[in-house]
Amino acid sequence: MKLKVVDNGKGKAVYTKEFIKNGSKVVEYGAKYHCTMYDALGTNYSLQIGMNEFVDINERTLGSFINHSCNPNLMMRYPKDKMDFKGYYFIAARDIEAGEELTYDYNTTEYDSEVWGCGFKCLCGSENCIGNFRGFKFLNGTQRNQISHLLAPYLRRLL
Ligand SMILES: [Zn+2]
Repeated sequence: MKLKVVDNGKGKAVYTKEFIKNGSKVVEYGAKYHCTMYDALGTNYSLQIGMNEFVDINERTLGSFINHSCNPNLMMRYPKDKMDFKGYYFIAARDIEAGEELTYDYNTTEYDSEVWGCGFKCLCGSENCIGNFRGFKFLNGTQRNQISHLLAPYLRRLL
């Protein structure tokens, strides 16, 4: 799959040069090892994989440049076996046209990003933009239901 990292003025972002069909595997997250919340503090490149479990990378990967959007075109796919680091990858959540930025909704994997000081003002510009990204914990019932089909398994259980 032909992807490229571009600085689009808001920071680095990943774009696709070709059409991607709904459900296709797009890119690996690039996880290298498991870590606790304490270990993951101080990095922006960890991914939550359970209520108290995380995986981290020790260098930037293509997957780590994928930005948040409240109207994303990707979702995270989790492996059945948590030790299968290649099993953490993004799949297309809908058909994606050539030239589109690849995005996923960080609220579909991260429960509480305030605890890390990793909340931020969202610049996605979509109609349903929640304004500030802070984590799933801070979404209201309507917002949670809107992303239910994209949620990581440990967050879906909270619906
Ligand atoms: Zn937004």
